[in-house]
Amino acid sequence: MELWFTENQTENVKFSMKVKGHVFSGKSDFQKIDIIDTYEFGRVLVIDGWTMVTEKDEFIYHEMITHVALGVNPNIKRALVIGGGDGGTVRELTGFPTIEEIHMVEIDPVVVQASKDYLSYTSCKLNDPRVTVYYEDGIKYIKDKENYYDLIIVDSTDPIGPGEGLFSEAFYNDCYKALTEEGIMVNQCESPYYPNNAREMKRAYNKIGKIFPICKAYQYNMPTYASGHWLFGFASKKYDPINDFKGFKFKEKLENTKYYNEEIHKGAFALPNYVLKQLEK
Ligand code: SAM
Repeated sequence: MELWFTENQTENVKFSMKVKGHVFSGKSDFQKIDIIDTYEFGRVLVIDGWTMVTEKDEFIYHEMITHVALGVNPNIKRALVIGGGDGGTVRELTGFPTIEEIHMVEIDPVVVQASKDYLSYTSCKLNDPRVTVYYEDGIKYIKDKENYYDLIIVDSTDPIGPGEGLFSEAFYNDCYKALTEEGIMVNQCESPYYPNNAREMKRAYNKIGKIFPICKAYQYNMPTYASGHWLFGFASKKYDPINDFKGFKFKEKLENTKYYNEEIHKGAFALPNYVLKQLEK
């Protein structure tokens, strides 16, 4: 008998992976969490039926959500990850020796524990001495922070359920306040392709553009996310992601990346016309 996991990417599009086994199933106060083992993508973290992380393509997401900001400001010392309970974003950040403090604020301890138990490589740096994990709502956590972080990464689920407030203008305002004058915010900014995702992408981008003097979007190719064409937002108080790109300071790091390199850094900000149109004010 064949077992398949199917994600309904839109009302008319489904994406299926053939399953070897169902490794973990749990329900928290916030969401339903599953980990499945698949033939093509290895283990896959699924939240409320949506693919979050697969062992095979997570390097693309986690390199692109972290390395771009570090390429622009290699002196980042304090970083905050909001969401990101699988640990992949933290893992990439720990590779930068200049980062002194990494705070991860994840609302759901079940995601973190399941990732520690079943996604060993993705979660492998959650015990790094520079990392502190707070089990809290990121929206609340950020409220009283001021001028502290050089980098905030919003590694969130889609804007439904607990992740909804992480796409609000009030939250982006609080992030602005929590950042230093050198501050950069990178956020999971959905996809420009299918209308449902594109609507959220445009809304998030417009809100951030009202708050940060520099607001850009950059793209990456994610085989297991709907359409494969996804964006991160890059917002900053001071640094332009291209004009202030330093080249890459940590040469040895660059040799260890599987996706990110200097040309990708620059090229990722070159967006197709249909996306530019969506991002027009
Ligand atoms: N790579 C992923 C993606 O875009 O599909 C993101 C994965 S990560 C697992 C997203 C995490 O954000 C989840 O573990 C979820 O619990 C967490 N999250 C959602 N809302 C949150 C909130 N308000 N505060 C903190 N964490 C939140």
